[in-house]
Parts: sequence; structure tokens; C-alpha cells
Amino acid sequence: MKRNKSKIRKKRLNRFYNKITQFAWQNEQVLCRIQHMELRLMQCETFADLLQTLLNDSQTQFELDKVTLILLDPDHEIQRLLSNIEAGFLKKFPNLSFHTTNQRFLHLFESDLSPQLGRYDPDLHADLIMSSSHQIHSIALLPLKHDDHLLGILILGDSNPERFTKHAATDFLQHLCTVISICIDMSILRDRLMHNSLNDALTGINNRRFFDQRLPEEISRCKRLQKPISCLFIDVDHFKQFNDTYGHASGDMVLKQVAGIIRNTLRKSDIVGRYGGEEFAILLPDTDHLNAVRIAERIRKNIQKHCYKFDTHQLQVTVSIGIADFQKFADENKTLTEIAEILISAADGALYKAKQAGRNCIAINED
Ligand code: GH3
Ligand code: MG
Ligand code: MG
Repeated sequence: MKRNKSKIRKKRLNRFYNKITQFAWQNEQVLCRIQHMELRLMQCETFADLLQTLLNDSQTQFELDKVTLILLDPDHEIQRLLSNIEAGFLKKFPNLSFHTTNQRFLHLFESDLSPQLGRYDPDLHADLIMSSSHQIHSIALLPLKHDDHLLGILILGDSNPERFTKHAATDFLQHLCTVISICIDMSILRDRLMHNSLNDALTGINNRRFFDQRLPEEISRCKRLQKPISCLFIDVDHFKQFNDTYGHASGDMVLKQVAGIIRNTLRKSDIVGRYGGEEFAILLPDTDHLNAVRIAERIRKNIQKHCYKFDTHQLQVTVSIGIADFQKFADENKTLTEIAEILISAADGALYKAKQAGRNCIAINED
């Protein structure tokens, strides 16, 4: 009898031990996967990489039915930055949404803003999940914080009702939330710095640093493909006088609009940069000087016919354009830097000729 009792106790203990071991093993697996994900997140160089890892890779890695991300963006600053970096960027991530306030979400969390796990409730969670081809039955809401205020929420959804349960420990997830929040902050900051270093704050187009970086790259591509490349230098005529007459603010408005006209007249693959105060440089890959002349003339006319409205004034400006091309890759053994210098100085020389010829015209550099 006594022996029987001890056997039963032993069996129970064994069962308990097995359960604990299995639980520990599962926990270790989860921890490993979370650590692996954290490392990947920390290696992301851009916000786009981070979104890809968070929204797409994590879904596969954690075998989840749905992962969505909500970010708070009160002044639309993040959305503006992302659209400036790449038009249509946001369309690539249908599971990402932006909100201007946290009002809609605060009631989903305790006051300490800790992760919330539990049953999926359509009344509470439907718009967090957006749409899903799976029936979601359990959900984890991971609050992303910066200095105790909500930055956003990462939402994990699963069709298994036991996947996220109310009383599960959330220490690992809390750690993950901290890492994700820091990574989001850092990647947006990095993108913003990169964007500001390559774009002109006034006109929104690329700046001279960007242009100078792209110049040898584009020359190399045209050289490899044996295609011509052209360069235009555009300078607003008598702009000092314009500023003196109508004021600096109206001058700024003109520069913005001139930049917009130039950008809209070009192909997407053409490169344009604000090269100096009222000077713009354009690179036309795969374009010989005959086509470059056509494009330059189109830009000149579009700028001339545009009406620049400022206060009660309706103003007009003109530009002069210098054109140069390079296509002698085969017969000249020059480095990319040498070709870049030739192209820039030839376009600048041609611009000088256009100014000499009376302005509001184009000129070609014939070497
Ligand atoms: P030209 O036809 O020979 O080019 O004459 P210009 O008056 O345009 O040339 P100049 O180089 O003498 O003057 C350029 C002017 O461009 C002077 C400067 O105040 C103005 N400028 C440069 N950057 C800006 C800017 O960001 N905003 C405004 N409003 N003006 C600018
Ligand atoms: Mg100038
Ligand atoms: Mg000028």
C-alpha cells in the first residue's frame, strides 16, 4: 500500500518535472527567437529595412497570422519624411498605419503601458488588426514607448486562442518593446539626417552634395553602356535685381517654383540638384547634346511662361542654360573624376556664353 502511494507520488513528480522541463524548453525557444529578432532589428540601417523586418520577417519567424504596426505621428512628420525619401513608400507597407493622437489607444493598456495579451475582441481590436485573411482569436499589444509616452503599438495576432493568454509572463516582450522603440527612433533619425544631408531645405530637391555623388556613378554607367551623358547648368537671370526689387521672400518663392518646374520637366531618372544660390545642375544620362538642347529649351520656356504670384504681384523670371555632353568614352582614356570635371566645367562655360549672349537663352559648349 505504502509502496503504491510512493509510486504514484513519483509518477506525479515525474509528470510535473516533465511539464516544467518542457515549459523551460519552450521559453528558451521563445527567448532565442526574440533575441535573434532583436539582433536583426538592431542591424537595420533604414526605416524601410526596419519595417520589413518588423512587419514581414517577424510574421514568418514567429509563425504569426498577422502583424501590424501603428505609429503616432502628430504633425505628419514621419509620413512626410518617408514620402520624400521615396514616393509611394507607404503603399509598400499596408500593415502600417499612422495616427495623430494616442486617445484611441490608451484605454487598451494599464497605466504602466505594459504589453497586453489575451483574447481577440472585435469591438476593441478590429481596427488594430486592419484586415486579415485569418480568423484572429488571440492578440498581443506591444506598446512602443519613448520616455513613458506612447510612440506606437506593435500588434501580433494569431488564430490560436491559446497563443497569447492574459496571464502569460511578458518580461521577454517588454524587453522586445524597448528594443523596437529604440530602433524605430534611431532609424527615423538616421533617415532624417541622410535626407537632410542630400536635400536642399528651401526647394526640396537634391543638393550639390547629392549631385556630386551621383555624377561619377552616372558617368560610369553611361561609359559601361557606351551611352552619351549630358549636363545642364541653369542660372536665374538678374536674380539679385529681382531680390532687390521684390524682396528676399519673393525670391525664395521663385526658387522653390523654378525647382519644381525643372523637376517636373525631367524624367524620373534624370538627376537635378540645387548647385548654388540660384543655380541648378542637371544630369541627363543616355542623352546626347541634341536631345539635351530640346530638354533645356523646354525648361527655359516653362520657367519663362510661368506666373509667380507673390502678395499682389504677378512676377516673371527667366533663366540662362549651359549645355555640355560627353560621349567619347571609347577614344579617351579618362578617369570618372576627370570626365566629371570636364562635363561640369564645359556646362559652366556654356552657361557663361548664354549670359554673354543676352540671357534667357541656351548655349552649347562645343569643344
Ligand atoms: P545673372 O543674370 O548674371 O546671373 O545675375 P544675377 O543677379 O542672377 O547674379 P548674381 O550672382 O549677381 O546674384 C545672384 C543672386 O541670387 C544674389 C543672391 O542674393 C540671390 N540668391 C542666392 N541664393 C538665394 C536664396 O536662397 N534666396 C533668395 N531669395 N535669393 C538668393
Ligand atoms: Mg549665379
Ligand atoms: Mg543669376
